[in-house]
Amino acid sequence: MTTVNTTTVNAAGRAGERRAEDDIRPEEHWRRRAACAGFDTAFFFPEDEDEAATGAREICARCPVREDCLEYALANRQDEGIWGGLTGGERRRLRRRRRDAARRAAAAA
Ligand code: SF4
Repeated sequence: MTTVNTTTVNAAGRAGERRAEDDIRPEEHWRRRAACAGFDTAFFFPEDEDEAATGAREICARCPVREDCLEYALANRQDEGIWGGLTGGERRRLRRRRRDAARRAAAAA
């Protein structure tokens, strides 16, 4: 029997997606502890991220899986919505900074 996870989680794949517990891969178990569970997912995918992100950021700030969420979004190029407390633009800038730092480190080695 499949148990349906009725918790709506921003970070659970995509806004509002309901997933069966059996469908959550082991490397994504962090999603079960997401502080955004139960919130309207539209809150995390505002029209203007930079203007409307404040409320979502406050939830992310107290989320126990913030780092997991952010790393997942970076690794999977989630460029829309608030993930790990950052907007899509902020995550793109962070990815660039990390890439540049890795290049500098490689050049210095
Ligand atoms: S960091 Fe924010 S978007 Fe990610 S799981 Fe936590 S509350 Fe949800």
